[in-house]
Amino acid sequence: MRLVVDLNKCQGYAQCAFLAPDVFAMHGEESLIYNPHAPEEQRERLARAVAACPVQAITADGLDSTGERHTGSAQGASDAR
Ligand code: SF4
Repeated sequence: MRLVVDLNKCQGYAQCAFLAPDVFAMHGEESLIYNPHAPEEQRERLARAVAACPVQAITADGLDSTGERHTGSAQGASDAR
């Protein structure tokens, strides 16, 4: 599957390299290197990396970066008690 990282957006947080080390790697402190043709078996890791990127810099075929995100934000929190 193909993926693209918008390196103008990327802030070098390395979340992706942590979650999908076979696809992303940090080179030095802030530059990211990645495999633009990630193997299909990396799909799940890639999906996590896409979701985890704090600046949504990663776009991958067949994965929607805005789709399923389960952030634990306080938005809409209803007081359980
Ligand atoms: S998680 Fe996002 S900001 Fe961080 S290195 Fe990867 S692409 Fe860049």
